[in-house]
Amino acid sequence: MTDLYAVVGNPIAHSKSPDIHNAFAEQTGEDLFYKTLLAPLDDFEGEVARFLEHGGSGLNVTVPFKENAFRLADSLTARAQRAQAVNTLKKMPDGTLQADNTDGAGLVRDLTVNHSVNLTGKRILLLGAGGAVRGVLQPLLEQDPAGIVIANRTVSKAETLAKDFADLGRISASGFAEVEGSFDLIINGTSASLAGELPPIPVSVVHQNTTTYDMMYGNQKTVFNLWAEEQGAQKTIDGLGMLVEQAAEAFYVWRGVRPQTARVMQSLRNERRR
Ligand code: NDP
Repeated sequence: MTDLYAVVGNPIAHSKSPDIHNAFAEQTGEDLFYKTLLAPLDDFEGEVARFLEHGGSGLNVTVPFKENAFRLADSLTARAQRAQAVNTLKKMPDGTLQADNTDGAGLVRDLTVNHSVNLTGKRILLLGAGGAVRGVLQPLLEQDPAGIVIANRTVSKAETLAKDFADLGRISASGFAEVEGSFDLIINGTSASLAGELPPIPVSVVHQNTTTYDMMYGNQKTVFNLWAEEQGAQKTIDGLGMLVEQAAEAFYVWRGVRPQTARVMQSLRNERRR
């Protein structure tokens, strides 16, 4: 019987996840179908329960339900526990719901495998302190960078994150304007790009070998990556690869099979150009 999966969110119609996962299924020969699921803002839990009752095997979770999913799960992987947010739910053989967070693994894989960016011993500036940044901190720190500075508009949120992850590596917090020194990698994990805005960081953070990564993606280069190019950054990357790689990691969690991502990424990029 064909297994059923879905991405649950609100809104959800724009999601690329069904295209990505159905392409993975075709490529790997896994017998599954993946669709979108619109949950009412006040009844995420009910929608998930109904989906599972009707034979659903697993879910991806997106805005605004990642924290609801964290609370709903019966068990958490270590990385979901750290992230305090969940983007992957898996129905276990005993009927319980296991939760995972694959965003950070997706980011690290996109950087290190797809873009050959070595993170070991590097200075990393991470902009933002919301759910996405919390989700990527553990996998980034596991790469053993020289240090991570988290800068955020609300500095107290960056301080909380720095404290929560201090046991995993060298990490400090800052306001945007107070960031000191230059960085090998700057990751924009704020949603400022959505509004066409730039986090007001000093231009001195960019040096000639800096790589920048904007978790956001779209039809055009993001304002953040355009700004970085103007400051002389060596390489700029958008978040489409993270999206596809976090999906591949979720597919692996559910099916035990790791799909190839390059062709799926290419077809999404071609679609964007049309
Ligand atoms: P949250 O709402 O949890 O956090 C938003 C963050 O952005 C906060 O740190 C907030 O600062 C900051 N921010 C918002 N507006 C501005 C602004 N105008 N100037 C400066 N800082 C701002 O969002 P998420 O963490 O879930 O998502 C962040 C981004 O990452 C989004 O663009 C999302 O699309 C992207 N993302 C991409 C993924 C991918 O697969 N490519 C996966 C997950 C997320 P403050 O704390 O002060 O409010």
